[in-house]
Amino acid sequence: MSVKTRFAPSPTGYLHVGGARTALFSWLYAKKNNGSFVLRIEDTDLERSTQESVDAILEGMAWLDLGYDEGPFYQTQRFDRYKEIIQQLLDQGDAYYCYCSKEELEALREQQMADKEKPRYNGKCRENPEDKAELNRVIRFRNPEEGKVVIDDLVKGKIIVANKELDDLIIARTDGTPTYNLTVVVDDMDMGITHVVRGDDHVNNTPRQINILKALGAELPHYAHLPMILGDDGARLSKRHGAVSVMQYRDDGYLPEALLNYLVRLGWSHGDQEIFSREEMIELFDLSQVNVAASTFNTEKLLWLNHQYIMNSDPELVAKHLEWHMQQRGIDVATQGPALVDLVKAQRERSKTLVEMSDASLYFYQDFTEYDEKAAKKNFKLAAIEPLQALLDAFNGVDEWQGEALHEIVLQTAETLELKLGKVAQPLRVAVCGTGMSPSIDVTLSLLGREKTLKRLERAINYIKEKNS
Ligand code: GLU
Repeated sequence: MSVKTRFAPSPTGYLHVGGARTALFSWLYAKKNNGSFVLRIEDTDLERSTQESVDAILEGMAWLDLGYDEGPFYQTQRFDRYKEIIQQLLDQGDAYYCYCSKEELEALREQQMADKEKPRYNGKCRENPEDKAELNRVIRFRNPEEGKVVIDDLVKGKIIVANKELDDLIIARTDGTPTYNLTVVVDDMDMGITHVVRGDDHVNNTPRQINILKALGAELPHYAHLPMILGDDGARLSKRHGAVSVMQYRDDGYLPEALLNYLVRLGWSHGDQEIFSREEMIELFDLSQVNVAASTFNTEKLLWLNHQYIMNSDPELVAKHLEWHMQQRGIDVATQGPALVDLVKAQRERSKTLVEMSDASLYFYQDFTEYDEKAAKKNFKLAAIEPLQALLDAFNGVDEWQGEALHEIVLQTAETLELKLGKVAQPLRVAVCGTGMSPSIDVTLSLLGREKTLKRLERAINYIKEKNS
Protein backbone atom coordinates (compact mmCIF):
# COMPACT_ATOMS: atom_id res chain seq x y z
CA MET A 1 0.00 0.00 0.00
CA SER A 2 1.41 3.37 -0.84
CA VAL A 3 2.25 5.76 1.94
CA LYS A 4 -0.16 8.54 2.77
CA THR A 5 0.55 11.09 5.46
CA ARG A 6 -1.29 14.16 6.59
CA PHE A 7 -0.83 17.44 8.35
CA ALA A 8 -3.89 18.26 10.41
CA PRO A 9 -3.63 21.68 12.03
CA SER A 10 -6.40 23.27 14.04
CA PRO A 11 -6.91 26.79 12.72
CA THR A 12 -6.74 28.49 16.08
CA GLY A 13 -3.59 30.49 15.34
CA TYR A 14 -0.91 30.93 12.70
CA LEU A 15 1.43 28.23 11.45
CA HIS A 16 4.27 28.26 13.95
CA VAL A 17 7.64 26.57 14.05
CA GLY A 18 6.39 23.42 15.79
CA GLY A 19 3.52 22.97 13.35
CA ALA A 20 5.77 23.63 10.40
CA ARG A 21 8.21 20.97 11.56
CA THR A 22 5.38 18.46 11.90
CA ALA A 23 4.19 19.38 8.43
CA LEU A 24 7.72 19.05 7.03
CA PHE A 25 8.40 15.62 8.56
CA SER A 26 5.04 14.38 7.38
CA TRP A 27 5.61 15.81 3.90
CA LEU A 28 9.14 14.40 3.71
CA TYR A 29 8.02 10.95 4.68
CA ALA A 30 5.38 10.95 1.97
CA LYS A 31 7.79 12.28 -0.66
CA LYS A 32 10.52 9.85 0.31
CA ASN A 33 8.17 6.93 -0.19
CA ASN A 34 6.56 8.26 -3.35
CA GLY A 35 3.41 8.57 -1.37
CA SER A 36 0.96 11.38 -0.98
CA PHE A 37 0.49 14.14 1.54
CA VAL A 38 -2.88 15.41 2.72
CA LEU A 39 -3.71 18.75 4.30
CA ARG A 40 -6.64 18.61 6.66
CA ILE A 41 -7.96 21.60 8.54
CA GLU A 42 -9.38 20.52 11.89
CA ASP A 43 -11.83 23.31 12.38
CA THR A 44 -14.56 21.67 14.43
CA ASP A 45 -13.89 23.87 17.44
CA LEU A 46 -16.14 26.59 16.12
CA GLU A 47 -15.37 29.01 18.91
CA ARG A 48 -11.62 28.97 18.46
CA SER A 49 -11.25 28.38 14.73
CA THR A 50 -11.02 31.40 12.45
CA GLN A 51 -10.79 31.98 8.73
CA GLU A 52 -7.81 34.19 9.44
CA SER A 53 -5.95 31.25 10.91
CA VAL A 54 -6.91 29.03 8.00
CA ASP A 55 -5.50 31.64 5.63
CA ALA A 56 -2.35 31.99 7.73
CA ILE A 57 -1.78 28.23 7.66
CA LEU A 58 -2.28 28.04 3.91
CA GLU A 59 0.01 31.03 3.42
CA GLY A 60 2.69 29.42 5.59
CA MET A 61 2.49 26.13 3.72
CA ALA A 62 2.72 27.95 0.41
CA TRP A 63 5.70 30.04 1.51
CA LEU A 64 7.53 26.92 2.67
CA ASP A 65 6.46 25.27 -0.57
CA LEU A 66 5.10 22.21 1.20
CA GLY A 67 2.61 21.23 -1.45
CA TYR A 68 -0.19 18.80 -0.68
CA ASP A 69 -1.53 16.15 -3.00
CA GLU A 70 -4.99 16.20 -1.45
CA GLY A 71 -6.98 18.80 0.39
CA PRO A 72 -7.28 21.08 2.10
CA PHE A 73 -10.14 19.13 3.63
CA TYR A 74 -12.23 20.91 6.22
CA GLN A 75 -13.72 18.91 9.06
CA THR A 76 -16.66 21.29 9.33
CA GLN A 77 -17.74 20.01 5.93
CA ARG A 78 -17.82 16.44 7.16
CA PHE A 79 -20.28 16.62 10.04
CA ASP A 80 -22.75 14.28 8.30
CA ARG A 81 -20.09 11.65 7.99
CA TYR A 82 -19.16 11.93 11.69
CA LYS A 83 -22.81 11.61 12.63
CA GLU A 84 -23.08 8.48 10.54
CA ILE A 85 -20.11 6.91 12.28
CA ILE A 86 -21.35 7.89 15.73
CA GLN A 87 -24.67 6.23 14.89
CA GLN A 88 -22.82 3.15 13.68
CA LEU A 89 -20.94 2.95 16.98
CA LEU A 90 -24.20 3.34 18.90
CA ASP A 91 -25.86 0.63 16.80
CA GLN A 92 -22.92 -1.71 17.33
CA GLY A 93 -23.03 -1.13 21.05
CA ASP A 94 -19.58 0.47 20.95
CA ALA A 95 -20.97 3.80 22.09
CA TYR A 96 -23.69 4.82 24.52
CA TYR A 97 -25.58 7.84 25.72
CA CYS A 98 -24.41 9.32 28.98
CA TYR A 99 -26.76 11.43 31.04
CA CYS A 100 -24.44 12.27 33.91
CA SER A 101 -24.65 15.94 34.81
CA LYS A 102 -21.70 18.27 35.07
CA GLU A 103 -22.18 18.41 38.83
CA GLU A 104 -22.19 14.65 39.11
CA LEU A 105 -19.01 14.36 37.08
CA GLU A 106 -17.36 17.10 39.09
CA ALA A 107 -18.25 15.36 42.37
CA LEU A 108 -16.87 12.10 40.98
CA ARG A 109 -13.66 13.83 40.03
CA GLU A 110 -13.24 15.39 43.43
CA GLN A 111 -13.86 12.08 45.16
CA GLN A 112 -11.27 10.36 42.97
CA MET A 113 -8.75 13.09 43.64
CA ALA A 114 -9.39 12.82 47.38
CA ASP A 115 -8.88 9.04 47.12
CA LYS A 116 -5.66 9.70 45.19
CA GLU A 117 -7.06 7.94 42.13
CA LYS A 118 -6.65 9.01 38.53
CA PRO A 119 -9.78 11.01 37.61
CA ARG A 120 -11.79 9.04 35.06
CA TYR A 121 -15.36 8.44 34.10
CA ASN A 122 -16.78 5.56 36.16
CA GLY A 123 -18.98 4.13 33.42
CA LYS A 124 -22.21 4.81 35.27
CA CYS A 125 -24.31 5.09 32.07
CA ARG A 126 -22.63 2.14 30.35
CA GLU A 127 -25.43 -0.27 30.92
CA ASN A 128 -28.19 2.32 30.70
CA PRO A 129 -30.40 1.12 27.90
CA GLU A 130 -32.75 4.09 27.98
CA ASP A 131 -32.69 6.58 25.17
CA LYS A 132 -33.94 9.64 27.03
CA ALA A 133 -33.66 11.75 23.93
CA GLU A 134 -35.05 14.90 25.43
CA LEU A 135 -32.38 15.14 28.11
CA ASN A 136 -28.95 16.66 27.96
CA ARG A 137 -26.73 13.83 26.98
CA VAL A 138 -23.36 13.14 25.47
CA ILE A 139 -22.24 10.03 23.64
CA ARG A 140 -19.33 8.04 24.98
CA PHE A 141 -17.19 5.44 23.31
CA ARG A 142 -17.33 2.12 25.10
CA ASN A 143 -13.65 1.47 25.63
CA PRO A 144 -12.69 -2.18 26.06
CA GLU A 145 -12.20 -3.01 29.74
CA GLU A 146 -9.75 -5.81 29.24
CA GLY A 147 -6.53 -6.12 27.33
CA LYS A 148 -4.05 -3.52 26.22
CA VAL A 149 -3.18 -1.27 23.32
CA VAL A 150 0.28 -1.66 21.82
CA ILE A 151 1.66 1.15 19.72
CA ASP A 152 4.80 0.50 17.71
CA ASP A 153 5.71 4.13 17.51
CA LEU A 154 8.18 4.80 14.71
CA VAL A 155 9.99 7.35 16.85
CA LYS A 156 9.38 6.33 20.44
CA GLY A 157 9.35 2.58 20.06
CA LYS A 158 6.83 0.34 21.78
CA ILE A 159 4.21 2.04 23.93
CA ILE A 160 1.85 -0.21 25.86
CA VAL A 161 -1.27 1.09 27.56
CA ALA A 162 -3.65 -1.14 29.55
CA ASN A 163 -7.29 -0.60 28.62
CA LYS A 164 -8.23 -0.28 32.22
CA GLU A 165 -6.23 2.97 32.25
CA LEU A 166 -8.55 4.45 29.66
CA ASP A 167 -12.06 5.61 30.44
CA ASP A 168 -15.00 5.99 28.08
CA LEU A 169 -14.31 9.16 26.25
CA ILE A 170 -16.93 11.53 24.94
CA ILE A 171 -17.25 11.33 21.17
CA ALA A 172 -20.26 13.65 20.78
CA ARG A 173 -21.12 16.68 22.88
CA THR A 174 -24.59 17.55 24.18
CA ASP A 175 -25.27 19.50 20.98
CA GLY A 176 -24.38 16.42 18.95
CA THR A 177 -21.11 17.79 17.57
CA PRO A 178 -18.26 15.29 17.39
CA THR A 179 -15.11 15.65 19.49
CA TYR A 180 -11.51 15.72 18.33
CA ASN A 181 -10.69 12.04 18.88
CA LEU A 182 -13.70 10.94 16.86
CA THR A 183 -13.17 13.26 13.90
CA VAL A 184 -9.47 12.40 13.64
CA VAL A 185 -10.23 8.71 13.60
CA VAL A 186 -12.95 8.99 10.98
CA ASP A 187 -10.77 11.16 8.77
CA ASP A 188 -7.63 9.06 9.10
CA MET A 189 -9.74 6.04 8.21
CA ASP A 190 -11.67 7.61 5.32
CA MET A 191 -8.63 9.33 3.88
CA GLY A 192 -6.59 6.13 3.99
CA ILE A 193 -3.81 7.63 6.09
CA THR A 194 -1.05 5.06 6.51
CA HIS A 195 1.29 7.10 8.73
CA VAL A 196 0.18 9.54 11.40
CA VAL A 197 3.06 11.91 12.06
CA ARG A 198 2.30 14.43 14.79
CA GLY A 199 3.56 16.09 17.93
CA ASP A 200 3.96 13.93 21.00
CA ASP A 201 1.41 16.04 22.84
CA HIS A 202 -1.03 13.68 21.11
CA VAL A 203 0.51 10.48 22.34
CA ASN A 204 -2.14 10.05 25.06
CA ASN A 205 -4.88 10.22 22.46
CA THR A 206 -3.41 7.45 20.35
CA PRO A 207 -4.57 4.38 22.34
CA ARG A 208 -8.09 5.81 22.43
CA GLN A 209 -8.02 6.47 18.72
CA ILE A 210 -6.74 2.96 18.06
CA ASN A 211 -9.61 1.48 20.05
CA ILE A 212 -12.15 3.44 18.04
CA LEU A 213 -10.47 2.42 14.79
CA LYS A 214 -10.61 -1.20 15.89
CA ALA A 215 -14.30 -0.87 16.73
CA LEU A 216 -14.84 0.42 13.20
CA GLY A 217 -12.89 -2.45 11.72
CA ALA A 218 -10.44 -0.01 10.17
CA GLU A 219 -6.88 -0.75 9.28
CA LEU A 220 -4.54 0.86 11.81
CA PRO A 221 -2.08 3.47 10.60
CA HIS A 222 1.51 3.60 11.80
CA TYR A 223 2.22 6.33 14.31
CA ALA A 224 5.21 8.61 14.71
CA HIS A 225 5.11 11.06 17.58
CA LEU A 226 7.64 13.84 17.27
CA PRO A 227 9.39 15.09 20.39
CA MET A 228 8.82 18.60 21.63
CA ILE A 229 10.84 21.62 20.65
CA LEU A 230 12.29 23.54 23.57
CA GLY A 231 13.52 27.10 23.81
CA ASP A 232 17.22 27.62 24.59
CA ASP A 233 16.32 27.96 28.29
CA GLY A 234 14.85 24.46 28.32
CA ALA A 235 11.24 25.63 28.57
CA ARG A 236 8.66 24.61 26.02
CA LEU A 237 9.09 26.70 22.88
CA SER A 238 6.96 29.80 23.00
CA LYS A 239 6.70 33.17 21.32
CA ARG A 240 9.42 34.40 23.59
CA HIS A 241 11.90 32.02 21.95
CA GLY A 242 10.94 32.84 18.42
CA ALA A 243 8.14 30.31 18.08
CA VAL A 244 6.34 32.88 16.11
CA SER A 245 4.45 32.56 12.90
CA VAL A 246 6.39 31.07 10.05
CA MET A 247 5.48 34.21 8.13
CA GLN A 248 7.35 36.27 10.71
CA TYR A 249 10.50 34.56 9.45
CA ARG A 250 9.70 35.76 5.95
CA ASP A 251 9.20 39.28 7.33
CA ASP A 252 12.51 39.02 9.20
CA GLY A 253 14.37 38.17 6.01
CA TYR A 254 14.76 34.41 6.14
CA LEU A 255 14.66 32.22 3.07
CA PRO A 256 12.09 29.43 3.27
CA GLU A 257 14.82 26.97 2.24
CA ALA A 258 16.91 28.01 5.23
CA LEU A 259 14.00 27.66 7.63
CA LEU A 260 13.14 24.22 6.22
CA ASN A 261 16.76 23.16 6.55
CA TYR A 262 16.73 24.41 10.11
CA LEU A 263 13.49 22.61 10.89
CA VAL A 264 14.63 19.30 9.44
CA ARG A 265 17.56 19.33 11.83
CA LEU A 266 15.27 19.90 14.80
CA GLY A 267 15.06 16.34 15.95
CA TRP A 268 16.59 14.63 12.94
CA SER A 269 20.18 14.26 11.86
CA HIS A 270 22.29 12.59 9.24
CA GLY A 271 25.80 12.30 10.57
CA ASP A 272 27.36 15.75 10.92
CA GLN A 273 25.74 17.16 7.83
CA GLU A 274 24.16 20.56 8.41
CA ILE A 275 23.05 21.68 4.97
CA PHE A 276 20.49 19.71 3.05
CA SER A 277 18.87 20.63 -0.21
CA ARG A 278 15.21 19.73 -0.50
CA GLU A 279 16.16 16.76 -2.67
CA GLU A 280 18.68 15.56 -0.13
CA MET A 281 16.17 15.89 2.67
CA ILE A 282 13.73 13.73 0.76
CA GLU A 283 16.39 11.19 -0.07
CA LEU A 284 17.93 10.93 3.39
CA PHE A 285 15.04 11.55 5.77
CA ASP A 286 13.63 8.70 7.78
CA LEU A 287 11.30 8.67 10.74
CA SER A 288 13.38 5.97 12.39
CA GLN A 289 16.24 8.48 12.76
CA VAL A 290 14.17 11.08 14.54
CA ASN A 291 15.53 11.70 18.05
CA VAL A 292 13.51 10.54 20.97
CA ALA A 293 14.65 13.46 23.10
CA ALA A 294 13.27 16.95 22.75
CA SER A 295 15.26 19.34 20.58
CA THR A 296 16.28 22.89 21.32
CA PHE A 297 15.56 25.86 19.13
CA ASN A 298 18.65 27.93 18.41
CA THR A 299 18.13 31.28 16.73
CA GLU A 300 21.85 31.82 16.12
CA LYS A 301 22.09 28.62 14.15
CA LEU A 302 19.06 29.53 12.09
CA LEU A 303 20.70 32.86 11.29
CA TRP A 304 23.92 31.13 10.31
CA LEU A 305 22.02 28.77 8.02
CA ASN A 306 20.15 31.66 6.47
CA HIS A 307 23.43 33.35 5.62
CA GLN A 308 24.73 30.13 4.08
CA TYR A 309 21.63 29.94 1.92
CA ILE A 310 21.81 33.59 0.93
CA MET A 311 25.47 33.16 -0.09
CA ASN A 312 25.22 29.82 -1.82
CA SER A 313 21.76 29.60 -3.37
CA ASP A 314 21.07 30.47 -6.95
CA PRO A 315 21.01 34.31 -6.95
CA GLU A 316 17.84 34.19 -9.03
CA LEU A 317 16.08 32.39 -6.21
CA VAL A 318 17.38 34.81 -3.58
CA ALA A 319 16.35 37.70 -5.83
CA LYS A 320 12.82 36.36 -6.04
CA HIS A 321 12.47 36.56 -2.26
CA LEU A 322 14.37 39.84 -2.03
CA GLU A 323 11.86 41.41 -4.39
CA TRP A 324 9.14 41.00 -1.78
CA HIS A 325 11.25 42.89 0.76
CA MET A 326 12.02 45.68 -1.68
CA GLN A 327 8.33 46.00 -2.46
CA GLN A 328 7.63 46.29 1.26
CA ARG A 329 9.98 49.25 1.23
CA GLY A 330 8.07 50.89 -1.57
CA ILE A 331 10.63 50.12 -4.24
CA ASP A 332 9.69 49.11 -7.73
CA VAL A 333 12.73 47.10 -8.69
CA ALA A 334 11.67 46.88 -12.30
CA THR A 335 12.10 50.59 -12.93
CA GLN A 336 14.14 52.12 -10.16
CA GLY A 337 17.57 50.54 -10.12
CA PRO A 338 19.85 47.61 -10.83
CA ALA A 339 18.67 44.06 -11.50
CA LEU A 340 18.09 42.26 -8.23
CA VAL A 341 20.26 39.33 -9.25
CA ASP A 342 23.23 41.68 -9.54
CA LEU A 343 22.37 43.22 -6.21
CA VAL A 344 22.26 39.80 -4.57
CA LYS A 345 25.68 38.95 -5.94
CA ALA A 346 27.06 42.23 -4.61
CA GLN A 347 25.52 42.03 -1.15
CA ARG A 348 25.21 38.37 -0.23
CA GLU A 349 28.48 38.03 1.64
CA ARG A 350 27.60 40.84 4.00
CA SER A 351 23.90 40.08 4.53
CA LYS A 352 22.72 37.48 6.98
CA THR A 353 19.08 38.21 6.20
CA LEU A 354 17.15 39.69 3.33
CA VAL A 355 16.09 42.48 5.66
CA GLU A 356 19.73 43.41 6.13
CA MET A 357 20.28 43.12 2.41
CA SER A 358 17.35 45.29 1.44
CA ASP A 359 17.95 47.89 4.13
CA ALA A 360 21.55 48.20 3.02
CA SER A 361 20.61 48.51 -0.65
CA LEU A 362 17.96 51.20 -0.71
CA TYR A 363 20.36 53.82 -2.09
CA PHE A 364 20.70 51.85 -5.29
CA TYR A 365 17.03 52.47 -5.97
CA GLN A 366 16.07 55.76 -4.42
CA ASP A 367 17.76 58.94 -3.29
CA PHE A 368 18.61 59.05 0.36
CA THR A 369 17.41 62.06 2.30
CA GLU A 370 20.47 62.57 4.42
CA TYR A 371 24.03 61.39 4.83
CA ASP A 372 25.05 59.12 7.64
CA GLU A 373 26.17 61.66 10.22
CA LYS A 374 29.45 60.04 11.23
CA ALA A 375 30.45 59.18 7.69
CA ALA A 376 29.74 62.70 6.46
CA LYS A 377 31.62 64.28 9.33
CA LYS A 378 34.67 62.16 8.62
CA ASN A 379 34.70 62.30 4.83
CA PHE A 380 33.07 65.57 3.84
CA LYS A 381 35.75 68.04 4.83
CA LEU A 382 36.57 70.93 2.48
CA ALA A 383 39.53 68.95 1.19
CA ALA A 384 37.15 66.39 -0.26
CA ILE A 385 35.81 68.82 -2.84
CA GLU A 386 38.84 68.56 -5.06
CA PRO A 387 38.86 64.76 -5.50
CA LEU A 388 35.06 64.66 -5.80
CA GLN A 389 35.11 67.33 -8.49
CA ALA A 390 37.93 65.52 -10.30
CA LEU A 391 35.92 62.30 -10.21
CA LEU A 392 32.82 64.08 -11.44
CA ASP A 393 34.70 65.52 -14.37
CA ALA A 394 36.34 62.23 -15.23
CA PHE A 395 33.12 60.20 -14.89
CA ASN A 396 31.33 62.71 -17.09
CA GLY A 397 33.68 61.82 -19.89
CA VAL A 398 33.24 58.07 -19.59
CA ASP A 399 31.45 56.46 -22.52
CA GLU A 400 30.95 53.00 -21.24
CA TRP A 401 29.80 52.79 -17.62
CA GLN A 402 31.78 49.79 -16.52
CA GLY A 403 32.98 48.93 -13.02
CA GLU A 404 36.63 48.18 -13.68
CA ALA A 405 37.19 51.27 -15.82
CA LEU A 406 35.53 53.42 -13.14
CA HIS A 407 37.71 51.89 -10.49
CA GLU A 408 40.74 52.72 -12.60
CA ILE A 409 39.61 56.36 -12.69
CA VAL A 410 39.39 56.40 -8.90
CA LEU A 411 42.95 55.03 -8.65
CA GLN A 412 44.28 57.54 -11.15
CA THR A 413 42.55 60.44 -9.45
CA ALA A 414 44.21 59.51 -6.17
CA GLU A 415 47.56 59.29 -7.91
CA THR A 416 47.20 62.56 -9.76
CA LEU A 417 46.14 64.44 -6.67
CA GLU A 418 48.74 62.63 -4.61
CA LEU A 419 46.16 61.45 -2.15
CA LYS A 420 45.81 58.16 -0.36
CA LEU A 421 43.16 56.02 -2.03
CA GLY A 422 40.93 56.25 1.01
CA LYS A 423 40.81 60.05 0.74
CA VAL A 424 39.21 59.64 -2.68
CA ALA A 425 37.25 56.44 -2.49
CA GLN A 426 35.64 57.04 0.88
CA PRO A 427 34.22 60.52 0.13
CA LEU A 428 33.03 59.06 -3.17
CA ARG A 429 31.30 56.21 -1.37
CA VAL A 430 29.56 58.52 1.08
CA ALA A 431 28.60 60.85 -1.77
CA VAL A 432 26.88 58.15 -3.80
CA CYS A 433 25.57 55.85 -1.05
CA GLY A 434 24.99 58.23 1.83
CA THR A 435 26.93 55.87 4.08
CA GLY A 436 30.47 54.64 4.46
CA MET A 437 29.52 51.02 3.83
CA SER A 438 28.87 49.53 0.44
CA PRO A 439 30.19 46.82 -1.81
CA SER A 440 33.52 47.50 -3.55
CA ILE A 441 33.63 50.78 -5.44
CA ASP A 442 33.59 49.21 -8.90
CA VAL A 443 30.54 47.12 -8.04
CA THR A 444 28.82 50.00 -6.27
CA LEU A 445 29.29 52.38 -9.17
CA SER A 446 28.25 49.96 -11.83
CA LEU A 447 25.13 48.99 -9.88
CA LEU A 448 24.26 52.62 -9.30
CA GLY A 449 24.62 53.61 -12.92
CA ARG A 450 25.83 56.80 -14.49
CA GLU A 451 22.91 59.08 -13.81
CA LYS A 452 22.63 58.49 -10.07
CA THR A 453 26.40 58.63 -9.61
CA LEU A 454 26.84 61.95 -11.35
CA LYS A 455 23.83 63.52 -9.71
CA ARG A 456 24.91 62.43 -6.26
CA LEU A 457 28.50 63.59 -6.76
CA GLU A 458 27.19 67.03 -7.61
CA ARG A 459 24.89 66.99 -4.64
CA ALA A 460 27.75 66.05 -2.31
CA ILE A 461 30.02 68.80 -3.64
CA ASN A 462 27.27 71.36 -3.08
CA TYR A 463 26.58 69.96 0.35
CA ILE A 464 30.21 70.33 1.41
CA LYS A 465 30.40 73.84 0.01
CA GLU A 466 27.25 74.90 1.81
CA LYS A 467 28.26 73.34 5.05
CA ASN A 468 31.56 75.15 5.00
CA SER A 469 30.37 78.52 3.76
N1 GLU B 1 -5.54 19.12 15.05
C1 GLU B 1 -4.55 18.66 15.93
C2 GLU B 1 -3.64 19.79 16.35
O1 GLU B 1 -3.62 20.82 15.76
C3 GLU B 1 -3.66 17.59 15.32
C4 GLU B 1 -4.34 16.31 15.23
C5 GLU B 1 -3.48 15.18 14.74
O2 GLU B 1 -2.44 15.42 14.13
O3 GLU B 1 -3.91 14.05 14.95
O4 GLU B 1 -2.94 19.66 17.29
